[in-house]
Amino acid sequence: MTATVSDQAHDGIRSLHTYVPGKPIEDLKRELGLDSIIKLASNENPLGTSPRALAALRAFDGDLYRYPDGSGFELKAKIAARHGVEPSCVTLGNGSNDILELAARVFLGPGKNAVVSQYSFAVYPIVARAVNAEVREVPALGSAADMPCGHDLEAIQARIDEHTGVVFLASPNNPTGTWLAAAAVEAFLEAVPATTVVLLDQAYVEYQTSAEQPDVHAWLARFPNLIVTRTFSKIYGMAALRFGYGLSSSDVADYLNRIRQPFNVNMLAMHCAAAALDDDDFIERSIASNTAERSSLVRELTARGLDCLPSQANFITFDCHQASAPLYDALLHEGVIVRPLASYDMPEHLRVTVGTAEENRRFLDALDTVRNSA
Ligand SMILES: *Cc1c(COP(=O)(O)O)cnc(C)c1O
Repeated sequence: MTATVSDQAHDGIRSLHTYVPGKPIEDLKRELGLDSIIKLASNENPLGTSPRALAALRAFDGDLYRYPDGSGFELKAKIAARHGVEPSCVTLGNGSNDILELAARVFLGPGKNAVVSQYSFAVYPIVARAVNAEVREVPALGSAADMPCGHDLEAIQARIDEHTGVVFLASPNNPTGTWLAAAAVEAFLEAVPATTVVLLDQAYVEYQTSAEQPDVHAWLARFPNLIVTRTFSKIYGMAALRFGYGLSSSDVADYLNRIRQPFNVNMLAMHCAAAALDDDDFIERSIASNTAERSSLVRELTARGLDCLPSQANFITFDCHQASAPLYDALLHEGVIVRPLASYDMPEHLRVTVGTAEENRRFLDALDTVRNSA
């Protein structure tokens, strides 16, 4: 057979499938002609966007014909001050996904491996395979563990060798909602070879009870191989604008910055993120709403015999004790979009984002309807 350009793609890229995001509301409208739809599929903030960010967006009068500040000087300074680190320790990203990819491109490649936990964020294997690195998936903790389906740090540590470029940890983790105890992560950081990057993805950290949130400031000072990522797509309600950042030693940040696109973060995203950073009121309201609604959802699901994984995030993953794909489809017909987890090898689980009280009620009603008719 004649070779084609496809033969140029390396094995890592050939092994990939396109990431499937939560179903957009517009798609479902088009497909089913429904007009009232709620989306609890992508862990977005049900309270919307930070009002300060929105106000900044409306008042924006910058020069859109000019390139944005590629160094992100002001925003970087603001983030650095917030975390008590030097601006040289901050890397700005087009979403935190950008930082994951930069880390993979710097620290992984052919002959290297990435260690990830089973049931962790789908993007980690994508960015690792994209640079032709091996992905070592470590079985998650069992269902009888204190943290069912959580990361098994001991087993992860055992898979690290001199070729391990990056270990990806998420706490709280998506799609499980499980988290790692700060003391356990600290012991892990102490044990990991200095040549392996530990990337701690904190996309949901704001939703953790404060007593459980690790002091990453102290860790960053101690561990030059640590990268912490944060996003504005979740609690700040800015998923559409695309902004996230990484914190690390300045040496690591220097490498990440060498390979990023010169203008990877757009002007509006930087402008709004700076405003959102001052929106303590919105963050507090978002946390309070999530904490209350999360426990009430857990209670309601549990009362229906649907076992929930422990979650300190803004979503709940629960066991349907039956194939969840038909339930997912039936919920779509009720105008409720959740996330099926078959692609995560959890074919009997669904993940639902904690919504407003009204959205959660509607989700539960729809769930009752589809389960009764199943
Ligand atoms: C949502 C999410 C992110 C955020 O990605 P962005 O690119 O910042 O939108 C990162 N990590 C995990 C685990 C997530 O669930």
